[in-house]
Amino acid sequence: MNQPRIAIVGAGISGICMAVALQRAGFTDFTLYEKADDYGGTWRDNTYPGLVCDVPSRYYQFTFAMNPDWSQLYSTGPEIKNYLAGVARGHGLDRRTEFGTEVVGAEFEDTAWRVTTSTGAVERFDFVMCATGFLHHPNRPDIAGLDDFGGPVMHSARWDHEVDLTGKRVGVIGTGSTGTQLVSALAGQVPKVVMFQRTPQWILPTVNRAYSPVAKQVYRRVPALGNLAYYANRAIFAAFSQGLVHPGRIRSLIQWVVARNLQSVKDPELRRKLTPDYQAMCKRLVVSDRFYAAVQRPDVELVTESIDHVKEHGVVTADGQLHELDILVLATGFDSHAFMRPMAITGTDGRTLDQAWADGPRAFEGVMMPDFPNLFMLVGPHSPFANHPLTAVAEAQAFRIVSWLKRWRAGEFDSVAPTRAATDRYNARMRAAAPSTVWTTGCQSWYLGKDGIPELWPWSPGQYEKLIRRTPDPIDYRLDRRVASKK
Ligand code: NAP
Repeated sequence: MNQPRIAIVGAGISGICMAVALQRAGFTDFTLYEKADDYGGTWRDNTYPGLVCDVPSRYYQFTFAMNPDWSQLYSTGPEIKNYLAGVARGHGLDRRTEFGTEVVGAEFEDTAWRVTTSTGAVERFDFVMCATGFLHHPNRPDIAGLDDFGGPVMHSARWDHEVDLTGKRVGVIGTGSTGTQLVSALAGQVPKVVMFQRTPQWILPTVNRAYSPVAKQVYRRVPALGNLAYYANRAIFAAFSQGLVHPGRIRSLIQWVVARNLQSVKDPELRRKLTPDYQAMCKRLVVSDRFYAAVQRPDVELVTESIDHVKEHGVVTADGQLHELDILVLATGFDSHAFMRPMAITGTDGRTLDQAWADGPRAFEGVMMPDFPNLFMLVGPHSPFANHPLTAVAEAQAFRIVSWLKRWRAGEFDSVAPTRAATDRYNARMRAAAPSTVWTTGCQSWYLGKDGIPELWPWSPGQYEKLIRRTPDPIDYRLDRRVASKK
C-alpha cells in the first residue's frame, strides 16, 4: 500500500487526534514534531493554580478514547493533560514523536514539502499537518516599567512553580477565563489578591462536583453511559451555540442568567464595577462557580482604575495610587491570530504565509489554503472554537484530512489545494454572516481580527461538522499530478 510521508506539527489536542486518525486509517509513515518535551499543548503549558476546563469532561474528550474515570464534572488542567498524554502513549505515538524538535520552516517543492527543524534536519514529506493551536503565544502586555518590578512576574501560561506564594501579595492583571480562575484559586491562600480589571466580564454560573467511586464504576461497566453523556452535552452546547450566532431567545436567556448571577454580588459599588457594558458572550463567556464569592472576600481587591506603570514595589494606577505587591501575574491572554507562527512556510511560486495572510488568517473550511498544496491545518482560522470543545473540532477536521489522504492513496492526485476563488467565496460568506453573531455586538475580544470581524465560524458547530464531513466539491479544488507519478 502506498504510504505518504506525513509531518504533523504540534502534539496538543489536535496533533494527537490527527496522529491517531492517521493510524486508524492505516497511514503509518508520519512524524509528530513537538518542540516541548511532552504531549498536551495548551494543557501542558498552562499549569496555573485553579485551572479547570469549563467544558464538562464527558464532552471534552475524544470519542475514540472515552474516559470513564474523570474525577469531576469539570476537570482540572493536570487531569486533562494526563488524559491527552495517556491517549497519545496508549496509541503508541511515542514511537513516532520527536520531542524537543521545532519545525522552523516548510517549503513546497514540486509535489512535496521540504521541512526544516530546529535540529537542522531537512526532510521531505508528501503532506504537512499544522496542529499548532491558537492559544499558544502568551500576550505580554505593553505596560511601562514591567521589567522594573522587584518580585517575580509570570504569565499565567508560564507559571513558575518554584515561586513560593506563602505570605505573598499577588497582583493578577486580566479578567478573562484565566484571570477569574486564578483569583478564585488564590483567594484565601495568600494574604492579599489584587485583580486589575480593564474590562468586566459576564460570568455564567455553574456547579462542579466530583464523581463518586460508584459513579466511576458504573461509567466503566456501562460504556454506553459515557456515550450518552457525551451526546447529551453536545446537544446542550448546540443549543447554547444558537445564542452565539443568532439573536433570539437563547441569547436573551443567557443574558438573563448572567445578570441574575451578578446579583449575588452584594455590595452595589462592587457590583457596578463588575457590570459589563456589552452583551453576554460578546467576549468569550467566563464560566465559574467561584469567582463572585472570591471577589467579595475582604482579602481580594478589585482595581478598576487603569494601570499607569509598574515599579519595584507594585503597580501604579492612573490615579497615582501604588498597589503594593510581591508577585505579579499576567493573565493577559494569547496572540490568538498567530496560527502556525513563527514557522516560515512557503507555498507554490514562492508565496509565503505572511504574504497570504497579510490581511489576517484566511483558510478554506478551516483546514486548507490556496497556494499551499498538501498542507492541512487543524483548528485553523475560522474553526468553531468559541466555548466549544476542540476535541470535537479536531476529530471532524481529521476526518476530512484522512479522506484526502485516501484519495491520494487511490492515486487521484499528487497535490491538492483549494482554489483562491473558492476560498474568497467562503470567506465572503462568513463575513456576511458575522453581523448576526454576538461577537460583533460591541466589545473588544481576541475573537476579532485586525478588521474587527470575528475570526470564528459564524454558524453553529453542528453546521461546521456537517460541512467538514461531507464530500468536498471538486469545483473548489485544484488537483495536480506529476507527469510521471511515483505511485
Ligand atoms: P483573555 O480572555 O484574552 O483575557 C485577557 C485579559 O487580559 C482580559 O481581561 C484583558 O482585558 C486583559 N489585558 C490584556 N492586556 C492588558 C493590559 N495591557 N492591561 C490590562 N489588562 C489587559 O485571556 P485568557 O483569560 O487567558 O483566556 C484566553 C482563552 O483561553 C479563553 O477565552 C478561553 O478560550 C481559553 N481558556 C479556557 C479556559 C477553560 O476553562 N476552558 C480557561 C482559561 C482559558 P480586556 O478584556 O480589556 O482586553
